[in-house]
Amino acid sequence: MVKETKFYEILEVDPSCSDNELKKAYRKLALKYHPDKTGGATSEKFQEISHAYDVLSDTQKRQVYDQYGEAGLSGEGGPGGGGMGGLSPEDLFSHFFGGGGPRSRPSGPRRGKDVAHGLKVTLEDLYKGKTTKLALQKNVICEKCEGRGGKEGAVKTCQTCNGQGVRLMLRQIGPMMQQIQQPCQDCRGEGEIINAKDKCKHCNGRKVTQIRKVLEVHIDRGMKDGRKIVFNGEGDQAPGTVPGDVVIVLEQREHDRFKRSGDDLYYNAKIDLVTALAGGKIQIPHLDDRILIVEILPGEVIKPGDLKAVMGQGMPTERHHDHGNLYIQFEIEFPAAGWTDPATIEKLRTILPVPQALPDIPKEKHIEEVSLTEMDPRQKARAEQGQQGYQDDDDEGGHPGVQCAQQ
Ligand SMILES: [Zn+2]
Ligand SMILES: [Zn+2]
Repeated sequence: MVKETKFYEILEVDPSCSDNELKKAYRKLALKYHPDKTGGATSEKFQEISHAYDVLSDTQKRQVYDQYGEAGLSGEGGPGGGGMGGLSPEDLFSHFFGGGGPRSRPSGPRRGKDVAHGLKVTLEDLYKGKTTKLALQKNVICEKCEGRGGKEGAVKTCQTCNGQGVRLMLRQIGPMMQQIQQPCQDCRGEGEIINAKDKCKHCNGRKVTQIRKVLEVHIDRGMKDGRKIVFNGEGDQAPGTVPGDVVIVLEQREHDRFKRSGDDLYYNAKIDLVTALAGGKIQIPHLDDRILIVEILPGEVIKPGDLKAVMGQGMPTERHHDHGNLYIQFEIEFPAAGWTDPATIEKLRTILPVPQALPDIPKEKHIEEVSLTEMDPRQKARAEQGQQGYQDDDDEGGHPGVQCAQQ
């Protein structure tokens, strides 16, 4: 859908017309209304036709016009001066029909900034897929003044800065003269001046108003943390610019049961010692409404830290219709101290495999019996820290201090 059809009507074409149809239409009308045919003076009609063609023949400008109408183009100087670097309709005509110099294309409207927004999602959302609504504040071209900021004709180019919005000043810093750019004070960097009484009441001369825009974000199954979903052209609107994109970045919340790595899931399962030795079943509630029943076979013997796989029960892969794996890491819950009587424990000896015999002690060694002590929490923390440090030293694998001294 196009916002306005005026330019298309002037050229007597449909808004869906191709570049070629546009060209033909312009050629026909330009010849018909050319000053040579109408008695000399540049007719208003000819100017209109030329301006409409100037805009619509430029892909970028046509895009801006379709989306925002004529107001969207106002940043380029409005009708007449627009686009062709100030070419008069005659210049355009002569260029079109031969005889003109090489056409100097304007660089087109500026593009607004892209805006990124984080969107927190659960692992369940990423597993099942979800459509969610996200409300954003954004600037849109003021509908009352169509982005002019005031009544038609009330917006004047600032004479002080010549519409640039900035002024170059010389400033002495120490012995050096430096040229610095400062925002023009007369127009407050706007490049144009609107008398207070002519200012658009709706946007207060700002040309844009802020609205609340609700975006529908489609989270596909298998999307990953950090995935970007782009809404083309949903960024802030400003006169004479093509709006940037809104980029939604998915941020996966940490899950209390599953960890994700690529398309695989990791799950920590705590099982009893008896289940680890004699088998049994565990339940894993999955990210949809299923509960996986995992069977540990009698005699399979699960050891603390064992990692086992359930194939195809990981995350869905985003592009292929496939799944990663579910890896289960086991933690064994041992019975608490004093869980049973000495007689039962003795019975265990007859059931469990016979322990390895202790090696013989050579005659020259002395024997000293020691006992294990329970530590208090502080002592335990210190001991664990020491163990950590010991492991860290190991990781380095060398003695950097010694190497330094030798250099
Ligand atoms: Zn306005
Ligand atoms: Zn100014």
